[in-house]
Amino acid sequence: MPKYIVVLGTIMSGLGKGILTASLSKILAKRGFNVAVMKFDGYLNYDCGTMNPFRHGEVFVLEDGSEVDMDFGTYERFLGVNLKGDASLTGGKVFKTIIDKERKGDYLGLDVQFIPHVTDYIKDYIRKYAEKNNADVCIIEVGGTVGDIENSYFIEAVRQLSLEEEVLFIQLTYIPEIYKGEQKTKPTQQANRLLRSLGIFPKIIVARAENELTDEARKKIALYSNIEERNVFSDPNVGVIYELPLVLERQGIYDVLSSILNIERREVEWIDWERRINNLKRAKTERTIGIVGKYVNVKDAYVSIYEALYHSGAELGIKPSIKLIDAELVERQGVDVLRGLDGIIIPGGFGKRGIEGKIKAIEFARTNKIPLLGLCLGMQLMVVEFARNILGWKDAHSTEFEKTEHPVIDLLPEQRQIAYKGGTMRLGAYPMHIKEGTRLYEAYKKEVVYERHRHRYEVNPRYVDELEKAGLVISATYKGIVEAVEYKDSFAIGTQCHPELSSKFENPNPIFRYFLSSL
Ligand code: GLN
Repeated sequence: MPKYIVVLGTIMSGLGKGILTASLSKILAKRGFNVAVMKFDGYLNYDCGTMNPFRHGEVFVLEDGSEVDMDFGTYERFLGVNLKGDASLTGGKVFKTIIDKERKGDYLGLDVQFIPHVTDYIKDYIRKYAEKNNADVCIIEVGGTVGDIENSYFIEAVRQLSLEEEVLFIQLTYIPEIYKGEQKTKPTQQANRLLRSLGIFPKIIVARAENELTDEARKKIALYSNIEERNVFSDPNVGVIYELPLVLERQGIYDVLSSILNIERREVEWIDWERRINNLKRAKTERTIGIVGKYVNVKDAYVSIYEALYHSGAELGIKPSIKLIDAELVERQGVDVLRGLDGIIIPGGFGKRGIEGKIKAIEFARTNKIPLLGLCLGMQLMVVEFARNILGWKDAHSTEFEKTEHPVIDLLPEQRQIAYKGGTMRLGAYPMHIKEGTRLYEAYKKEVVYERHRHRYEVNPRYVDELEKAGLVISATYKGIVEAVEYKDSFAIGTQCHPELSSKFENPNPIFRYFLSSL
């Protein structure tokens, strides 16, 4: 029988619930337990595909093409696995299923209610997920904060689950420290009381704070929350997110987990994991990489790119110092902000804002021979820049942004009929066939690789010959789609896919590793 762990966030968002969930999963998975991780998000969107990165951070894409919350990226990066879309249960999915069932007549004669219909559906979903994945332990992160309307029916469902199965609730909380050394536990006490009033009794509390939890604060939290002191864990700021499993291990979290869940005590070693962290923290070499994007006020918008760079840095012993550069600033004030960078990345994106700035940054990288990585939109703009400045087609553009005589980037043919926006892009893992002798081949050392995609546009096949004749290298294709390009005489890799999405802490993506090692 699977055991369940439910991670609930209290007080406020942004405490790192995803990182905690991923760390707990890793702590168990490292000991050979079969861990199935899933997340509930209360919003009514069916998935994350139509959300704005400004509000919600990056949209993460799974191999099967599901567009999910960026926490799934954290799970995959920690666990080194590729998850499936059913790991994500959203309010939108729950209610779409319930209403579809009602229309079909599945509830004939009944009024459809939150309890039992919605809660039963959720419980059933969780059990099936655990069973399908053959889980020893199923870990569920509840999105949002306790007390929100959005996740209330989900919390009720897991309360009921705890009456029927072995469920361990973990409360993530926040400890403010207005004056240094004075940690305040009152919000935690009240949040714990709120949880208990909902019938949820956490046996572990993880306290997010700037610093280590003081003994006094730990004592208070334990006393007011009816738990033992050793069940209160400190979750201070760490330099690298991958340190959290180690921070929790050092406090003996596994002993507590194993005694509450009644699972076998197993030894573990973290030597390689630790080595990677130390490589990153003590790296003597530092490289400055500029990401020229448009979501510059939200770091989360490009989180997978950051992490992919850190993964490679941790393997190579290079510290990536990442600068987020506003494409609109480059557009208005020119390329001066790019001087001194060791490498430039043009990330994926949608919409016209900042496009000309990105194109200028590409031209700057190409003409100054600064290593360049163009990801999805970034690759498309590499082609636009090449067409404008090498082929001399000054009006060359993507039809996503403009009608032009030289539409070098155009809609994928299968996209022409599509009117709905949700889940209709070319999504998920597709192969690319890599040409030997290219930089891309040098990176992967393989002819066929699978990477994840999320796009509607492609390099217009009509122009491929002319682009190639003018010197652009088409380094990978798949069924007539240009999957990757590069320059002949300077380091640049452009990919239609998003290689950053498949990078793992213990297994960095080859393109990023190659890029970072070339700087
Ligand atoms: N907007 C471009 C397209 O739809 C690029 C998408 C992306 O960068 N993910 O093809």
